[in-house]
Amino acid sequence: MGEYRQPSNEQEFEQNFAQIKPLMNKTEAYYESSRCLFCYNAPCVEACPTHIDIPLFIRQINTDNIMGAARTIYDSNYFGNACGKVCPTEVLCEGACVYNHQDVKPIEIGRLQNYATSKAIADDVKFYTQGKANGKRAAIIGSGPAGIACACELRKAGVHVDIYEAKSNATGLTVNGIAPYKITNEDVLEELAYLQTQFGFNILYNSPIMSKDDIARLEKDYDAIFLGVGNGETSVLGIPGEDKANVHGAVEIIEHLRREHYKVAFGKKVIVLGGGNTAMDAASESARMGCPDVTLAYRRSKEEMGAYHFEYELAKDAGVKGLFNAAPVEFYGNGKVTGVKFIKTKVENGKLTNITGSEFVLECDMVIMATGQKSHDYLFDSISNLEVNGTKVKAENYQTTNPKYFVGGDCLNGGAEVVNAAYDGKHAAIAILQFLGIR
Ligand code: SF4
Repeated sequence: MGEYRQPSNEQEFEQNFAQIKPLMNKTEAYYESSRCLFCYNAPCVEACPTHIDIPLFIRQINTDNIMGAARTIYDSNYFGNACGKVCPTEVLCEGACVYNHQDVKPIEIGRLQNYATSKAIADDVKFYTQGKANGKRAAIIGSGPAGIACACELRKAGVHVDIYEAKSNATGLTVNGIAPYKITNEDVLEELAYLQTQFGFNILYNSPIMSKDDIARLEKDYDAIFLGVGNGETSVLGIPGEDKANVHGAVEIIEHLRREHYKVAFGKKVIVLGGGNTAMDAASESARMGCPDVTLAYRRSKEEMGAYHFEYELAKDAGVKGLFNAAPVEFYGNGKVTGVKFIKTKVENGKLTNITGSEFVLECDMVIMATGQKSHDYLFDSISNLEVNGTKVKAENYQTTNPKYFVGGDCLNGGAEVVNAAYDGKHAAIAILQFLGIR
């Protein structure tokens, strides 16, 4: 079980949040690439949402053709470096590696991917050129992985691209929403700069698109518009006491931590509500911030959690305790939260039910709610004929019910991985090019 001391400076923060997939050196990369069987119809390729030719790039690394390997990766995924670090490879490519059938450690595909792409970024090796200007203009709302991937593909075809970003920094989820032990801000921003110098898209920071007037202006100035805004802030639970101080949304506290590092104040007794991957991240991060008592509380059983098993193991290794079949009913405290009242639950006739009289209170000085996110209704409501289903924008082949608008990433799929957003952005761009009569 991990025991972390509260970090009081950047160095201690970096120690507590050491990268779980550190960069390989040349010997490690050579050894690891030598183990690959270069399978025919490789299952790792099938399992990768962007279908990178994994055996090819591993062979290229093994023959010291590192730039060839990086090119193979980037040809399928513009976020080749970020995805090598933040992808849940344990359930994607590495989870599908044939070695798993022999009880042998699967090939470390993610780290090999980073080995090649980080060298291309460090040496600023340019693989792509911008297409000849064809007079077409596209606006992209949101500079997360979906928006950036869309921009790269459009610029390659000669479309002028302006990205409208509400915040003062880019790459959305990757900078703001990923646990710092998976990727550093520097890694994300270096890959973004690398892509921007190759593809030449504009990012307009601090430029939220909020109103019908903003939308009317975009519709006048651009031939196509891509919505890559992701999900919004944490949804409220609607239980008493939710407005008490030190009750935070997981997305908001993770974003705060990514920016302010050791300066963010965490409690001594933290309760994290939720059973998804965001809850695991928030719990792990609380423990790594030196909280001696972190409880992850989920209203259903451990087996029913939406989180990947390895993410729960990671949280447990950091010192997090699990509390299952416990639903929050009230937050206690006088101004600041001091406890959460739970009721025990069980499944009866296939339905989750509260067990009458089973209420209990768990003391705490901080609560993190990882209980889902809102959608960007203000934006979607401003666009005529745009149909939305819950938090998701409806689309066919990435084109929404308003034909000028395309969509990808979390606001299309409801919330998935960076790799899914990168795939969506690229393929939405291909759909936009068809719409504009370019391809
Ligand atoms: Fe190599 Fe494993 Fe992919 Fe086979 S499944 S090509 S061994 S990484």
